[in-house]
Amino acid sequence: ENTPNNHFIRQIVSDDVAAGKHGGRVATRFPPEPNGYLHIGHAKSICLNFGIAREFGGRCNLRFDDTNPSKEDIEFVEAIKENVRWLGFEWNELRHASDYFELFYRCAERLIETGKAFVCDLSADDVRAYRGTLTEPGRNSPFRDRSVEENLDLFRRMRAGEFPDGARTLRVKIDMTSGNINLRDPTIYRIRHVSHQNTGDAWCIYPMYDYAHCLSDAVEGISHSLCTLEFEDHRPLYEWFLREIDLPHHPQLAEPVAQAGMTVTIGDPQQIEFSRLNLDYTVMSKRKLLALIAENLVDGWDDPRMPTLVGARRRGFTPAALRALIERVGVTKQNSIIEFSVLEGCVRDDLDANAARRLAVIDPLKLVIDNLPEGHVEELSFPNHPKNEAFGTRAVPFSRELWIEREDFMEVPPKGFHRLVPGGEVRLRGVGIVRCTELEKDADGNVTVVHATLDADTRPGLAGADRKVKGTIHWVSAAHATAAEIRLYDRLFVVPNPDDESEGKTYRDYLNPAAKRVVQGWLEPSAAQAAAETSFQFERLGYFVADRVDHAPGKPVFNRTVTLRDSWAK
Ligand code: ATP
Ligand code: MG
Ligand code: MG
Repeated sequence: ENTPNNHFIRQIVSDDVAAGKHGGRVATRFPPEPNGYLHIGHAKSICLNFGIAREFGGRCNLRFDDTNPSKEDIEFVEAIKENVRWLGFEWNELRHASDYFELFYRCAERLIETGKAFVCDLSADDVRAYRGTLTEPGRNSPFRDRSVEENLDLFRRMRAGEFPDGARTLRVKIDMTSGNINLRDPTIYRIRHVSHQNTGDAWCIYPMYDYAHCLSDAVEGISHSLCTLEFEDHRPLYEWFLREIDLPHHPQLAEPVAQAGMTVTIGDPQQIEFSRLNLDYTVMSKRKLLALIAENLVDGWDDPRMPTLVGARRRGFTPAALRALIERVGVTKQNSIIEFSVLEGCVRDDLDANAARRLAVIDPLKLVIDNLPEGHVEELSFPNHPKNEAFGTRAVPFSRELWIEREDFMEVPPKGFHRLVPGGEVRLRGVGIVRCTELEKDADGNVTVVHATLDADTRPGLAGADRKVKGTIHWVSAAHATAAEIRLYDRLFVVPNPDDESEGKTYRDYLNPAAKRVVQGWLEPSAAQAAAETSFQFERLGYFVADRVDHAPGKPVFNRTVTLRDSWAK
């Protein structure tokens, strides 16, 4: 049943629509906390939430889960919006959990009035001590039996700023003996005298995630609240809040939201959990990504080696490839680790179909065709895509002096080497067959120039054009090529599980020293003139993208997105 095309969440939503549950409406949300950059794991949640809404003609909100003011930043908010759009999605409404602070407050007063919430004066340490453990039940707080009047008075004074941070909390009364620790009278408000990126200094009490999340879902009319598996144990709490507050029967609690100009669609959301996307050969924990940056092990959040969406974009991974990855991985409740090569395969598939071909040489060796006249220049017409004529053709300058790839020539070749060797022949892509006649060397004996003659009868369209030789190599015209900075990226770590800390190692010990190499290469003119963020296949070398930050037409900087074939295969 869990084939990518029919995963269990699609099935639930489809059944619910058929049964008219939630009034037949489908509404989802993507709820990031704006405390960091999104990574490829988040793409799963984005594709799932926005994808389900799109498939079922529903809506999907982008909601910033901004209940924890001290860690949040507007820089992250902007980056997240850009990431969602880059992946190909658009939200129906942009909301913030903080848009609902007044609603949350009123609901909390309602919980106090119905005897379900109390102000607790225990310190954080005591709350923890009273909570018990997995094997030991917790104990009731000595403040649990305060009167409704006292609780209301204290809670209002908490809001008014009369108490310092940590002096009091608001907790709900559920069951201190519950086997589910989340239900042991969880805290729903704490005092924090800090300003908030959205609400400024309006509040000094802030709601907890579990409390805020279900109410945000309810007031946005979310039908299916899709979240990752670690929230499975929180679902009873999610349902408890919704049941006790009962927003559908107390719509007046949502008045502040409508008064602030937002549409209110009160619903009865259901939480459904799915497994996280994990990738091998990388780390996705925010703490570790931050440490990589802080320790200068990478060049920032958008370093092409990073698994962040800004990094993936700069690397040249395409939105279509990431969407294909998510679809291929499917949605289940089993945690698993996806091989990085699956991601790379999705990128290759997309770029193979959609990236134009260009010629580039990244480790140049001079090739001189002695039987062409000095100053000889031709414009050759090359197809931009071998399998798709719609890509058209381009002019490629060809002349007497070329750059070829150093590794395409060997003076003393091993057996089975099918490229250029002294006295041997090779086909120059789109030109014809050349024979190596002579070498020039420097004082150390390194080959500096290869001389060759072109068999004029093997030019395209002529009688000898089909003559067989074993190898075909690429080239660029030395006089016409543009020097380019080429950044050769590879996997950030050399082991599949850099999170493995056994043997006293940390992920730092597994960094791939060859994950970034910068070389100077030579590009044919039409590659050098490309707009930033254009992807190409540089023939025989791999897929490359014009760096979105540093590239300028005529002053090219290209990042290797992925090699043509998987060189990591086991
Ligand atoms: P934290 O800030 O504690 O690291 P987080 O990584 O879950 O939390 P959020 O900003 O809360 O980050 O994530 C937004 C949404 O993306 C959540 O619904 C979360 O469950 C989901 N999400 C996060 N990481 C993954 C992942 N690896 N795979 C799938 N979904 C994910
Ligand atoms: Mg987060
Ligand atoms: Mg989170």
